Amino acid sequence: MEKTFSGRVIELVLGDITHQRVDAIVNAANSTLLGGGGVDGAIHRAGGPAVLEECRAIRAERGECPTGEAVLTGGGGLPARYVIHAVGPVWRGGDQAEAELLASCYRNSLRIAAELALQTVAFPSISTGIYGYPVSLAASTALGAVASFLTTETVAPTRVSFVLFDPVTFATYAGALDAL
Ligand code: ADP
Repeated sequence: MEKTFSGRVIELVLGDITHQRVDAIVNAANSTLLGGGGVDGAIHRAGGPAVLEECRAIRAERGECPTGEAVLTGGGGLPARYVIHAVGPVWRGGDQAEAELLASCYRNSLRIAAELALQTVAFPSISTGIYGYPVSLAASTALGAVASFLTTETVAPTRVSFVLFDPVTFATYAGALDAL
């Protein structure tokens, strides 16, 4: 399923983000940047030690990555050229600026992609696994933030994929994209 915004496409895919042959995949990282479970674990397993080494170097230089922000590494052994490590918010009931922080993750990741003039970027459903963000709320915030970036920015990727790991998450994003 896909939808076009100012000539740029948002596409939904049911699958594994580590298999995507795109300019950059986005990781749902944690602020330590040292790896974790879920999609983070899968990306580090597939990317190999080069990705973790770069994350360690960034952390040594700049400290932890704040929630809502993102950093860039190479893709190591992944088919994607780069990994953008974005730190999503932990869901704490919705009154701790979770929506704004989640939208920032997507915007800051796209900003990094635009700075490098990347054309194709793939996102997972940030924060909706271990971090507990309700999928329906995350889907509309994520898609809204990406659609608004693609519509308003002069430089932006031409194709943004959401690679969703299970059918329920895929269906929820499909409903939210339809409603956008
Ligand atoms: P967070 O800590 O931000 O909640 P998780 O990795 O726990 O991140 O989960 C985020 C989403 O990524 C969940 O929907 C989870 O099912 C999904 N996910 C896990 N592994 C993969 C993968 N290999 N490709 C794409 N999505 C994945």
